[in-house]
Amino acid sequence: MEEKHAFTAFPEPDSNRNFPYLISGPCSAETDEQVRSVFSSLKERIPEISLFRAGIWKPRTRPNSFEGIGAEALPWTVAAAKEQGVPLAVEIAKPDHVEESLKAGVDVLWIGARTTVNPFQVQDIADALKGVDIPVLVKNPVNPDLGLWIGAVERLDVAGVKRIGAVHRGFSVYEQSKYRNRPSWEIPIELRRRIPELPIIVDPSHIAGSREYLQEVAQRGIDLGFDGLMIESHPDPDNAWSDPKQQIRPEGLRELLDGLVIRKQEDTGFSERAELIELRRKIDRLDAYLLELLAERMGIAEEIGEEKKLRSIAIYQPERWKKVVARALEVGTKSGLSEEFILSVFQQVHKESIRKQTKE
Ligand code: PEP
Ligand code: MN
Repeated sequence: MEEKHAFTAFPEPDSNRNFPYLISGPCSAETDEQVRSVFSSLKERIPEISLFRAGIWKPRTRPNSFEGIGAEALPWTVAAAKEQGVPLAVEIAKPDHVEESLKAGVDVLWIGARTTVNPFQVQDIADALKGVDIPVLVKNPVNPDLGLWIGAVERLDVAGVKRIGAVHRGFSVYEQSKYRNRPSWEIPIELRRRIPELPIIVDPSHIAGSREYLQEVAQRGIDLGFDGLMIESHPDPDNAWSDPKQQIRPEGLRELLDGLVIRKQEDTGFSERAELIELRRKIDRLDAYLLELLAERMGIAEEIGEEKKLRSIAIYQPERWKKVVARALEVGTKSGLSEEFILSVFQQVHKESIRKQTKE
């Protein structure tokens, strides 16, 4: 289901850009000197930079941590960006923040992950933006809920915000993993399918949570064809007042960018190459076969469903299902399929079988 939206893409697509759209700057604006140092060093080392970022109000998980300088930081942060001739983005979470940022001459606003989760708060922000033409980037909500993410974009769209983009910063999960936030790339990919005109910027800093993984996350985002990168930078990352582990010096960012392999969406002639045509034909044939097999499997599940109904047996048989999954894992992993993939396919298959067996 694709719906019509009135907004236009921010950032604007630019086929001449042979460098990802890049947003960088500190997690938080700390001092006049710090923002001037990081902005001038970014501009000097990475002249292609598109947009600076700086957090003025910081949504912190727990109290008694640095919550940002607040509106007081706006004049010197705006001035530091102007000095370099690069537009500035800040995070806003309330109508007051919108008002203060507009007054100070900020160029772009973004809504943070802890704000996107709350439709009341997003609506208040959307209302505060009525009649104002400033681009807004919407970070995904902390939880993996695509509906909420789309809902926030739509609230802004309905309020008349003209230029909108999204930022993928990963999702909070309780389990420990090497990243701070799980990327679940399928979610931004699905967002792309649902709203193709919405640009998606990847934020490797908040996904990775530590410097050592920035490069691989940035590369993954580029390989998947997303539109740009938001990466936190700081003149002295280890002593940053927020997110010290994930920030990098402008020099480090330059190196990271130089190490990226930028792939083109399609090379001219790539789709016409004979080997590729043959391989894609094979894929199409296999897809048709897969669907046929799935349909046959569902037909059998329906037959079993009839039997269960006649005999008043519960539809969900946990022991049987355990055996099915164990077998699938055994056979599938031998063929080189990952456990994660097998489990997710079988979960969907099971869900559909149950749906077939429960329908009247
Ligand atoms: C940030 O960009 O510094 C920030 C607070 O990010 P998020 O909303 O993604 O946690
Ligand atoms: Mn941060």
